[in-house]
Amino acid sequence: MPEKSKFHVIAGTPPPATQLEEVRKIVRAMPKPASMLQCHRCGGREIMETKIGALLKNGKVSGGTKQYLCASCFLKGERVLLK
Ligand SMILES: [Zn+2]
Repeated sequence: MPEKSKFHVIAGTPPPATQLEEVRKIVRAMPKPASMLQCHRCGGREIMETKIGALLKNGKVSGGTKQYLCASCFLKGERVLLK
């Protein structure tokens, strides 16, 4: 007889069922210009630009890979990439 698996696959960690999460659901569903960046996790529209691997040349910062992070998620210690 095959042993029953101790693990099972779920679709992903569901967000906690709190009042705040309900508000986030509403915010994410609000209309916005199609081109506006919005966090897919919290619904925030405040972003931060970061650079990875920038070089210092003659006293100036240059190069590096630009990335856009959600500012409100970042404040909570989460790194959510927007682009
Ligand atoms: Zn966010």
